[in-house]
Amino acid sequence: MEAVQRKKLESAAIVGCMDSRLTERIQKAKARLREEYGPGIDIHVYRNAGARVISEIFEQAEHTDMKVLVLMPHKDCKAVGYAREVILGEIHPSPAIKKIFVEPLKAAGSNSRSSLEQFNADLQREVAIAGLENLKRDVEVDLSLVDLNGKSVPKNARRSIYIVPSQCDYREVMGDDKKGAFVLQSDKFDDIIPDLQVAAELLSPMLPIVIVTDGKAAGHKTREFEKTIRQKLKTVPENELEIEVRSVNSMK
Ligand SMILES: [Zn+2]
Repeated sequence: MEAVQRKKLESAAIVGCMDSRLTERIQKAKARLREEYGPGIDIHVYRNAGARVISEIFEQAEHTDMKVLVLMPHKDCKAVGYAREVILGEIHPSPAIKKIFVEPLKAAGSNSRSSLEQFNADLQREVAIAGLENLKRDVEVDLSLVDLNGKSVPKNARRSIYIVPSQCDYREVMGDDKKGAFVLQSDKFDDIIPDLQVAAELLSPMLPIVIVTDGKAAGHKTREFEKTIRQKLKTVPENELEIEVRSVNSMK
């Protein structure tokens, strides 16, 4: 039988925090990647509490020809601040949040916010490099601890949570109401539940949780996810938990 060599799709991944102030910088990073690798490069963005490197990234690296992984944690990170309060024993979140987000930061050896932010950034790079080496993938890992330069969320900002797929175009789905929101990006609903809990605690009271789907996703999957959110966010009173589903077609 003749071996068919199929060229793998070239791809790139960006990992960012869920903070809306980072959205513009992520858009710029995407534009830069398209300039460098060509407009056809398949870019996936993953956003969660603290810009953590998650298993989806390694799955992408396995199935595509991944050229670069851009890590974009940031300074003045509320998610890291949240982890710090947990470490100090001031708040007591669910075991899932502790396990994936707080426990790894305990090794920092310092409880100052800025050293935790730096530690988290270095830790994510280490996790990325180790995982890619394990897969024998030669991927450039590019880390920057983004300084938002005092950019603050406007007082009257609409505060909501967006859950969007990794290839979503923000402008199409969010319009102007993204300021002050948290943006969670992932192709797997289960992966962002703990982050959703952190976001909900940081934003309470909040406006709707908006689930953006690409139309291809089965409707029942979204409804199941909606049910899971209601179960997991028990701290939010039922009458305050409004969930809206938006469908978009173009996902580039
Ligand atoms: Zn953050």
